[in-house]
Amino acid sequence: MIVGILKEKNRETRVSLVPEIVKQLQQMSVTVWVEQGAGDHAFYEDSLYTAAGAEVAPLSQLLEQADMICCVNTPDAETLAAIKPGRVLAGTLQPLYNLSAVEQWAARNITTFSLDTIPRTTRAQSMDVLSSQANIAGYKAVLLAAYSYSRYFPMFMTAAGSIAPAKVLVLGAGVAGLQAIATARRLGAVVEVFDTRPAVKEEVMSLGAKFVEVEGAADASAAGGYAVEQSADYQQKQQQRIAESIAKADIVITTAQIPGKKAPLLVTNAMLDNMRAGAVIVDLAAATGGNTEVTKNNETVHYKGVTIIGNSNLAATMPADASKLYAKNLFNFLKLILTKEGALALNFEDDIVAGACITYNGEIVNQRVKSLMQPA
Ligand code: NAD
Repeated sequence: MIVGILKEKNRETRVSLVPEIVKQLQQMSVTVWVEQGAGDHAFYEDSLYTAAGAEVAPLSQLLEQADMICCVNTPDAETLAAIKPGRVLAGTLQPLYNLSAVEQWAARNITTFSLDTIPRTTRAQSMDVLSSQANIAGYKAVLLAAYSYSRYFPMFMTAAGSIAPAKVLVLGAGVAGLQAIATARRLGAVVEVFDTRPAVKEEVMSLGAKFVEVEGAADASAAGGYAVEQSADYQQKQQQRIAESIAKADIVITTAQIPGKKAPLLVTNAMLDNMRAGAVIVDLAAATGGNTEVTKNNETVHYKGVTIIGNSNLAATMPADASKLYAKNLFNFLKLILTKEGALALNFEDDIVAGACITYNGEIVNQRVKSLMQPA
């Protein structure tokens, strides 16, 4: 088995496999080729890959001969078109948001594995790229907010006067939200939190934040722990409560997402109108439409004295650690689908394999993708 590591394109700084993992793959009889400069932005230079036993190769060689291509994001159309039928592509392909691309992968008979669709179970935790990367995003969102904010986060009593602690509001207490709470608390802020899943209340409170409850959320227990869309009645009640909290907040970190759907609108322009001048919002749901009415992905918007930073890829601002964790997640998954001799061996009875495999043998095999393709 030859595994090829792609150099990511556009604004992506991460790399899918790091030199440390190359060594471990070799112990499984896997030969690793790395596209020239693939790890440069994450400070894993070609020489480190070579020292670990990989061969630095041009893209054409990778696409021509590697059995499996590893990536962070879905490769561009040109690269995809050059992957030969029957070969394997593994990465964070976001199939739930790219249904037409999935049809093309199947039509071209490319076997695809997407680590963002594995089940969120204890056993899958070591392969969970959504968690390892969201953890970074939550941490970095607070640092970015603190950096952009014109006041202190912690409380200070000084000879020159007293400073009140910053009030941080976190919307959505998933992996990113919980890390945002912990980071904001470490910086000395007072933190309030909303989520539609009451199950997170205890975790939120254990981090020293206040959980604001809104009665009547839709039951998400059948959705594998993910949030589901809420009724109009609930949304109205929630918006009223958020409006009260947001008017007092200095910093808002929004993280609310529903897999395969547009992000819920939680912060309306009317709420922004009531915010304090100088307040900062970091919207981590920017790529799927954003949680505010004015969010623009990869842009900072200024709205009546409020700064709204839209960025769903903050993990890429810490590429060295993000790549290290991503690579470990990917390696743990590869151990599940490769034999010790480095051959592909798929057990579709395994919920992780079935959850990650999107296309196989020219067919779309993933149940979550299929359910989104069927008209409701
Ligand atoms: P996510 O990125 O899909 O969503 C972020 C948060 O936004 C979630 O907590 C969600 O409930 C919340 N949200 C959605 N709509 C909302 C709304 N209208 N108002 C307020 N909040 C809203 O979440 P995630 O971090 O990817 O986590 C998804 C699920 O997976 C969670 O249940 C999480 O605990 C679970 N998980 C489990 C494991 C594990 O057991 N191995 C690992 C990671 C995550």
